[in-house]
Amino acid sequence: MMSSTSHPTASLQLDYRNGLCSAGAALAVATHLALCPECAEAPSTAWGGRNLPGVLATEHGGGEAYASALGPAILEHWHGDGGGVRLAGLKGAAGIGEAVYLVDAAAGASADLPGVLFLVVLRGLLADGSIRFARGAFIDLAAAPLLEPEGAGPRGCICLAICESV
Ligand SMILES: [Zn+2]
Repeated sequence: MMSSTSHPTASLQLDYRNGLCSAGAALAVATHLALCPECAEAPSTAWGGRNLPGVLATEHGGGEAYASALGPAILEHWHGDGGGVRLAGLKGAAGIGEAVYLVDAAAGASADLPGVLFLVVLRGLLADGSIRFARGAFIDLAAAPLLEPEGAGPRGCICLAICESV
């Protein structure tokens, strides 16, 4: 069962419904809403001409399956396999003022990415000490910094990551 910290805050959900949050935050919230039975369902929004939150929220399997499901028009090539962590940018969310990635992390890898604002777990588990974030978990890293140096890391995990653009 997800903890209460695995959902967007009430104020962020309100901003989302009122169209006041950033595009990256909106994508993260919409993807969480597509996965979470506890949060009220919101109308889906088209991203890059398709229901991107719905596609992200579908269980596709591993990274390659997400790549084929999203298609080359939406997902860039996976790159950077250092430490068992790969990233692929979402083209459909480009130019929104934030960087949006899928993160594919092998078991035991540290997904300690710089500038991450929000994570939504799409597959597998993300662990922070004894806390387990399962599929659908929404993690606001500004509110709750994640991934302590020791004893933390993903367990074969794919996440949507919204990052500060550089
Ligand atoms: Zn929720």
